[in-house]
Amino acid sequence: MKLILLGPPGAGKGTQAEILSKKLGVPTISTGNILRNAVKNGTKLGLEAKTYMDTGGLVPDGVIMGVIKERLSEADCRGGYILDGIPRTLVQAEAFEDEGIAIDTALLITISDEEIEERMTGRRVCKGCSATYHIKTNPPKTHNTCDSCGHSLEMRKDDEPGTVRNRLQVYHDLTEPLVEHYKDRHKLLVVNNQPSIEATTAVLYQTLGI
Ligand code: AMP
Repeated sequence: MKLILLGPPGAGKGTQAEILSKKLGVPTISTGNILRNAVKNGTKLGLEAKTYMDTGGLVPDGVIMGVIKERLSEADCRGGYILDGIPRTLVQAEAFEDEGIAIDTALLITISDEEIEERMTGRRVCKGCSATYHIKTNPPKTHNTCDSCGHSLEMRKDDEPGTVRNRLQVYHDLTEPLVEHYKDRHKLLVVNNQPSIEATTAVLYQTLGI
């Protein structure tokens, strides 16, 4: 299955993508995680991306398309993939079509802006493996420590309140038009966010028929 997850930042796309990956046996590709790793490693891509990411803006379409094309050419993507965070603009969605990058389904997770602001302030990410937690809804077993790899957890700089509001604005202006784009192509499925991760996963499975 070649799936993209759509929805505002903080909708739970990353969490659901990890769960779906295991269920479907295909990799999740998160452009946000690729970029954060590049920033951490101080690569040329990281240095370029950091200025945009820190303020909640988007990395230029040309840069991110180069990144995703390279990743999708790797062997593990042959049987399908789940994309988290890309395409994020109409230009990127059109570039996917021009490049022949297939998408079977675009799955939108809906949630209000207010709930997102509340959620993001509680989100913590592992410094080692990028696994995501939430201090209230999905806490690690040991305080501030990753269950999977044991590294400590941190708050993403772009989860700070002012940046969150900017990211929501960027989502409404630049990414939300993709909902119509995929609806027009009869590829859109919609899932409303549920009170727990498990409940959202259940609705998601039902919607995908898996
Ligand atoms: P995310 O973890 O998906 O919220 O991404 C974090 C940040 O990475 C975003 O706020 C953007 O600055 C950048 N980013 C991730 N994916 C893309 C993309 N497809 N196009 C442009 N910028 C991106």
